[in-house]
Amino acid sequence: MTSNPRVVVIGAGPAGVTLARHLGELGTPALVVGDEEHRPYNRVLLAEVLAGRYGPEVTALPAPAGLLRGRVAGIDRAGRTVRCADGSVIAYDTLVLATGSNAVLPPLRGLYTRDRELPEGVHAFRTMDDCLGLSKAVRPGVRAVVIGGGLLGVSAARALAVRGAQVVLAQQSERLMERQLDPAASALVRRHLEGLGVEVHTECRVRDVRSVGGAVRSVELADGYALGADLVVLACGVRPRVGLAREAGLDVGKGVVVDDELRTSDPHIRAIGDCAQHADRVYGLAAPALEQAGVLAALLAGDGTARYTGTRALTRLTLTGITGITGPKGPLRGPDTPFDLAAFGETDPRPGDDVVQLADATRGTYRKVVVRDDRLVGGVLVGELGTVGALARAWEGAEPLPSDGGPLLHLLTHDGGAR
Ligand SMILES: Cc1cc2nc3c(=O)[nH]c(=O)nc-3n(C[C@H](O)[C@H](O)[C@H](O)COP(=O)(O)OP(=O)(O)OC[C@H]3O[C@@H](n4cnc5c(N)ncnc54)[C@H](O)[C@@H]3O)c2cc1C
Repeated sequence: MTSNPRVVVIGAGPAGVTLARHLGELGTPALVVGDEEHRPYNRVLLAEVLAGRYGPEVTALPAPAGLLRGRVAGIDRAGRTVRCADGSVIAYDTLVLATGSNAVLPPLRGLYTRDRELPEGVHAFRTMDDCLGLSKAVRPGVRAVVIGGGLLGVSAARALAVRGAQVVLAQQSERLMERQLDPAASALVRRHLEGLGVEVHTECRVRDVRSVGGAVRSVELADGYALGADLVVLACGVRPRVGLAREAGLDVGKGVVVDDELRTSDPHIRAIGDCAQHADRVYGLAAPALEQAGVLAALLAGDGTARYTGTRALTRLTLTGITGITGPKGPLRGPDTPFDLAAFGETDPRPGDDVVQLADATRGTYRKVVVRDDRLVGGVLVGELGTVGALARAWEGAEPLPSDGGPLLHLLTHDGGAR
């Protein structure tokens, strides 16, 4: 590598753009190639845009100086070049894959038209284009079916209901947001959605999408019941975008496999963000993507000691849309917070764990922490996030808790000064 290596980044999402910004500050400019039409934006805020709470411009990320619009179609590792879809070729010393993830499109009958397109009215929920398409189609009284009751499905259903749609949420498993929440917190989220008029169906499998003249009309459930639909949102998870890496012969598991220096199986190629798999883990979250971008910038700018060893991120959402992640420096907060929720780690205890729960059914608040031996291993807060700062510090620091018996309750009732 030369002292001023040519760094080419594929993907202008939060990971790629943050890397380029850090590199620029460190005097190592990078060229970022991004295939979306819009200027770089913060995907985490899309539900807020759909809810009508923010205009799309609020989500803009500072665009890096060297931003090229285009799609990279292939990597020539031997020649150290990338080929763009328009035929242009770009040379690199170091290539960074920051290609993110794609929405998973479930294997439903009738999901595609004859032209292999989604029928009119059917949308994934991943990109600004998805969000603007949905936003244009939603009107008071529109019948919307959201397929998937995870974090994305819940926030999409919430946003559409706020916009006046009649929303049905179909969740295959037995409760909402089961990856993040324990049953009590899931039940509060359900109650909140139902309070907004969303009809929630759990243990409900969608089988078919029915269209007429290329436009969706209904979705059919596994038991044969048909739900009329003018809009369908596919919120069935995401999958790392690894096609380029696989075709180039890099080591790929669920994501592009990287080591603590975010190096792939080719020493000249690194990977960060949603597309990367570090220590067997693909995060699919903003905080690890940004942390990886920071570590890689330091490495590429010559700090040979920088390492990425994993992120202990606390997911925090506000159900007008998701407002992001909090770390020890505090959460990203919107101007109004009608239904706050934070979750981290293991929210379902194992036998022998200590658990403290505080629930107030009238106010719809719920707080719980799980402690194993003397470590905080998980927790969930719904409706009342006053203690999120103290919990985040205890969780991310992974320090042993004091053994005087009081710390559990303390964690749930005191913020410790800062958030
Ligand atoms: C609605 C929504 C809400 C979310 N809420 C939260 C949340 O509350 N908290 C949280 O932590 N995370 C949340 N996430 C996830 C978060 O957005 C991602 O973890 C984050 O965007 C990852 O950043 P990234 O840069 O790795 O990937 P991405 O944001 O996916 O960006 C990758 C970019 O690379 C481009 N690209 C891919 N291949 C090519 C190519 N061959 N050539 C050129 N460009 C290419 C893509 O088009 C894309 O623009 C949410 C996601 C969505 C969709």
